[in-house]
Amino acid sequence: MKMSISDTRLPERIFLSPPHMSGGELGLIQEAFASNYIAPLGPQVDAFEAEFARISGHRACLAVSSGTAAMHLALRCLGVGPGDEVLASTLTFIGSVSPATFMGATPVFIDSDKATWNMDPDLLAEELADCQKRGHLPAAVVPTDIYGQCADLDRILEVCRPYGVPVVADSAEAVGANYRGRHAGKGAQAAVYSFNGNKIITCSGGGMLASDDVSLIEKARFLSQQACEPAPHYEHKVIGYNYRMSNILAAIGRAQLAVLPEKVEAKRKIFEYYRENLTGTPGIEWMPEAKYGRCNRWLSVMLVDPKDFGVERDEVRLALEERNIESRPVWKPMHLQPVFKHCRARINGVSENLFKRGLCLPSGTQISPSQQLIIINYIKAIRNHRANNLK
Ligand SMILES: *Cc1c(COP(=O)(O)O)cnc(C)c1O
Repeated sequence: MKMSISDTRLPERIFLSPPHMSGGELGLIQEAFASNYIAPLGPQVDAFEAEFARISGHRACLAVSSGTAAMHLALRCLGVGPGDEVLASTLTFIGSVSPATFMGATPVFIDSDKATWNMDPDLLAEELADCQKRGHLPAAVVPTDIYGQCADLDRILEVCRPYGVPVVADSAEAVGANYRGRHAGKGAQAAVYSFNGNKIITCSGGGMLASDDVSLIEKARFLSQQACEPAPHYEHKVIGYNYRMSNILAAIGRAQLAVLPEKVEAKRKIFEYYRENLTGTPGIEWMPEAKYGRCNRWLSVMLVDPKDFGVERDEVRLALEERNIESRPVWKPMHLQPVFKHCRARINGVSENLFKRGLCLPSGTQISPSQQLIIINYIKAIRNHRANNLK
């Protein structure tokens, strides 16, 4: 399909979710340099952990090199091991579930509910009951807060409690989001956050493990620093990891954390602008917001119904790409990934449908209304072009 409207390729690419510095980062990086803690430890890391504990409400936090590392440490500290199963959201990013395989465990995937796009607590309850019948309970449950919308954590905790199965919230995408008045992930046995370059706030790369269980965080801290026993020489009784966050990157994280509320407002405004201006265009729907919380709208996600819109989701994506606008399909569910084809899954069709129809639109907090209008008008033009061709 060649269209005249695509002839005007934007000279500057509009990215999906690029980093957006607040201006305060360089000052804190300079502080880090002045202290000479050019190390995976130091005052910036300590301050970042304390500040993150304050905004998230967790009793203890551990800053690490990535969200994936934080998840790995969480599962290790909960004793996940070979032969174990870990029940996880199927609609997620690989970093949520690869740590289970690092520990020699096997993931089992749970589909989403329509209203939140997150792990369906009823499906989880069915799976747990079946696990019980088989006499093999999972070692952990890992629900993802997808695109910054919190999973129904209280229901998930309630379902898991009678079985004594711990919950690790994958809140990597949900920094700044809220669930029943608490920060995303608060209340789970442990929660994982990411500060990768594309997330709502970034250190360039980094993650946080948080919990109300101070001893879990202290154990993770020990393991994240090569499991060095307290001794002047290097003494090791177990194998650890090198997962600490650099003091320089923590400086960036602190400056980013200081503007988190503004970022959430900006992301939500971006979403509303798309929605308002595309309302009335047939065949377009939006990611719902659960009543129990406040989504950070990390990415603005739209659903394309090819019957009413007239064009498949991927045609929209490719047409935007032709104009130098980055968009992406919704996460490909883990139960459809070749690497997990041997894994059990409890599927209801929701995540597969979202993967087929969902498109993540440019959502960087620096995007301007005029850039958004270009995207909005282009999406409308894609539809009209097709509608006219069919006449
Ligand atoms: C980004 C992300 C991760 C992993 O975080 P990294 O910091 O990139 O390792 C895990 N889970 C989800 C849902 C994510 O979006």
